[in-house]
Amino acid sequence: MRGLATVPSYVVMQPTTLCNLDCAYCYLPFRAADRQMPVAVAEAVAASVNRWASTDRFSVVWHGGEPLAAGRERLAALMAPFGPEVEHHVQTNATLIDDAWCEFFARHRMRVSVSVDGPRERNGERVSRAGRPAYDRIVRGVAALRRHGLPFSALAVVNDPSPGRATELYDYFLDLGCEVLGVNIEETEGVNTRDNAHDAPAVTGFWAELVSAWRRDPRIHLREVEWSLRYAGAVLDGTADDLLPSRLDPIPTVAYDGSVVVLSPELAGFTDPRYGDFSSGSVLTTPLHTILAAAERTPWVGEFIDGVEACRSSCPYFGFCGGGHAANRYFELGRFDGTETEHCRNSKIRLLEGVLEHARDHQSPGA
Ligand code: SF4
Repeated sequence: MRGLATVPSYVVMQPTTLCNLDCAYCYLPFRAADRQMPVAVAEAVAASVNRWASTDRFSVVWHGGEPLAAGRERLAALMAPFGPEVEHHVQTNATLIDDAWCEFFARHRMRVSVSVDGPRERNGERVSRAGRPAYDRIVRGVAALRRHGLPFSALAVVNDPSPGRATELYDYFLDLGCEVLGVNIEETEGVNTRDNAHDAPAVTGFWAELVSAWRRDPRIHLREVEWSLRYAGAVLDGTADDLLPSRLDPIPTVAYDGSVVVLSPELAGFTDPRYGDFSSGSVLTTPLHTILAAAERTPWVGEFIDGVEACRSSCPYFGFCGGGHAANRYFELGRFDGTETEHCRNSKIRLLEGVLEHARDHQSPGA
């Protein structure tokens, strides 16, 4: 794996910077402001995306702010330039989902992922702008999805990973009825400067327990655990080198104003005296495929690629991790060519160690 691919596997779009919630761990800098994406931005992105989607499966992920805060009419106008073969996904806090939104999702064959952190008492960080808990509204939104028979994924943020939490979390999502679950240990990034250092055995124990909970009833695709098991299987088969793509997926985020930030959506909206606004260009002046063809020349991206090479030569977990995420390096280390971060310890190294701990604990005697 060397350098950036020029064709991404998906594009992230920010229809509005606004979010109707104000979660304590949110990284978004402008979530109280309603800066809306003009249709001209979507048209420019679609000109490249429709080409890519004509030869391969391709997704657009509507992310925020809270994308549903843009309203159905505006979201439909932004989606209209994309061809019928493009798959649309939305990452939402679920609080605005009602029957009308469910009809919208069904009509546009939109795949929905909801953000919820587990049972009510684990959602204390998810609050409205007035500081009121959002949990009841989240659950009402999920109930609407279920009423309409719409499959959905879920994304949970965990801020105190430890054994005991994992079983509770997994059982909750089994009841909630999601098809896929992603588990993010809270990250220090964007405007969230809270410390994310945790006790190593506790985090490893959390992941090990999550594997146990999943293996008891693997009805949900558990993203992180399935990645790790696939990697462990490939190591045993001697095919682990084939798992990483030959070049990094640039995963462009197109901000509301058309500026394009590659690799990490979390960098959009920030500026730095050394790196400027992190943008590789604007789709309002340059086609997206042209921006991506030159994205490696964006100064911070070159520094990040150096960091990935440093990981390759120093970290035994590189074959699984591929070098981590740009935003975690920047917000934790202040630059892009460092290697280990608290994020990669929590969510890559201890994840893999947790899977191994589970395997050791469940080895058959004499094996
Ligand atoms: S686990 Fe951390 S140090 Fe290792 S390859 Fe990933 S980002 Fe780099």
